[in-house]
Amino acid sequence: MDEMKEKSKGQKLLDKLTYNSKNAWEVIPDRELIFSFCDGYKAFLDKAKTERTYVREAVQEAEKLGFEDLDMMIAEGLPINPGDKVYRVVRNKAVIFAVIGKQPVEKGTRMVGAHVDCPRLDIKQNPLYENTEMAFLKTHYYGGIKKYQWLTIPLALHGVILKKDGSVVDICIGEDQGDPAFTITDLLPHLAKDQMQKKLHEAISGEGMNALSGSIPYDDKEVKDKVKLNILNLLNEKYDITEEDLISSELELVPAFKAKDVGFDRSMIGAYGQDDRVCAYTGMMALFDVKDPDYTAICVLTDKEEIGSVGNTGAESRFLEDFLADLCDMTTDNYSDILLRRCLNNSVMLSADVNAALDPNFEGTHDKFNAAYLGKGLAILKFSGARGKSGASDAHAEVVSRIRKLFNDNDIPWHTTELGAIDKGGGGTIAQFIANLGVDVIDCGVPVLSMHSPFEITSKADVYAAYKGYKAFLKKLE
Ligand code: MN
Ligand code: MN
Repeated sequence: MDEMKEKSKGQKLLDKLTYNSKNAWEVIPDRELIFSFCDGYKAFLDKAKTERTYVREAVQEAEKLGFEDLDMMIAEGLPINPGDKVYRVVRNKAVIFAVIGKQPVEKGTRMVGAHVDCPRLDIKQNPLYENTEMAFLKTHYYGGIKKYQWLTIPLALHGVILKKDGSVVDICIGEDQGDPAFTITDLLPHLAKDQMQKKLHEAISGEGMNALSGSIPYDDKEVKDKVKLNILNLLNEKYDITEEDLISSELELVPAFKAKDVGFDRSMIGAYGQDDRVCAYTGMMALFDVKDPDYTAICVLTDKEEIGSVGNTGAESRFLEDFLADLCDMTTDNYSDILLRRCLNNSVMLSADVNAALDPNFEGTHDKFNAAYLGKGLAILKFSGARGKSGASDAHAEVVSRIRKLFNDNDIPWHTTELGAIDKGGGGTIAQFIANLGVDVIDCGVPVLSMHSPFEITSKADVYAAYKGYKAFLKKLE
């Protein structure tokens, strides 16, 4: 009966004039599509927990789809043509995928940019020591973490050790069912009287975050630090390394558990490292679906975002520019720098990074009219920054307009967001570094609860909305 009833004049006017974000589950009714896409996402999360493993797994997927190594093509003097699929790996920690467009590269590109590094505990270069006949690995946390969240959980060890002769040993301990794990211990409540009086950020010290790594002594009464020696001996037998080899290592401790569905209705995903692998994965899958685009479509996955996009694998460096220069060069007979400048200035990027979803358990962190919410689709963030937009990347209204129209025309659920309430904190993404190149860029990503914790939460509908939105952007933005 209600459906038959004519809407009142005021109701019609309200529908016509007011902005309301929609629930993504209602915009995308095909639950099966959402759930099966997210099964693929969870499986990928489990095998790609670090930037190195992400890049390795991503390239494997891309090669299956016919993507070719751009540097190999350059070395062999092969040309590239519209419709070609190419990639470049940057020092095993960042990667760019591209599908060449029909338009000349200097006319601009459509890029989705995400990062594949995540907050974690790095192992120090001289890490192994013994105390009270237990062995520990010293760590130095990477990125912004609440330290207490990383104690008393199982941790897996990933990374590489470069031996004396330069050969590489790949390390992965703690992911298989039968593997041992590592952990950082915490004080029992009974003896935590002093600790409990401390401020949250002082209660755990960085130098106290040492991972429990062994307790059997080497069988020799003469030597000291027998537990440490026993571990060095184990490492030597298994990997043919000595303690000095650890100096040229990059080892990371990450949560050892796997991605899980969350909730009675399985509507959410709980997993480590969804900032920013949720956008990296959806952006990459969107690019993999692009065929014969008008404008060259690109997915760039950077490293070091969590510590400021620094270094030659971070967004602050020139690796993206260099890649575009190569594309310009390979698609013209008369390369000059101006082609690259034009390409950059004609390009548009969605800076695909997660946004802090409003958490109803914590009041006052957001302006609810401008907050990101779980389940409302892609979060468009016009500006980032902190304390009066300081350090912000602020997208032009003209760019917001193009993206809003694109998403509305293609039934992509989205909502407008700020990182949080004014003066409550803030942050940035890769957007500012890309904007510096002349590219029009706007932050647009998936809302996350418990961001930077070992178990971050996303909505499956948002994950699918991101994939759909990035695909529409790469294929259809005029
Ligand atoms: Mn991020
Ligand atoms: Mn982050």
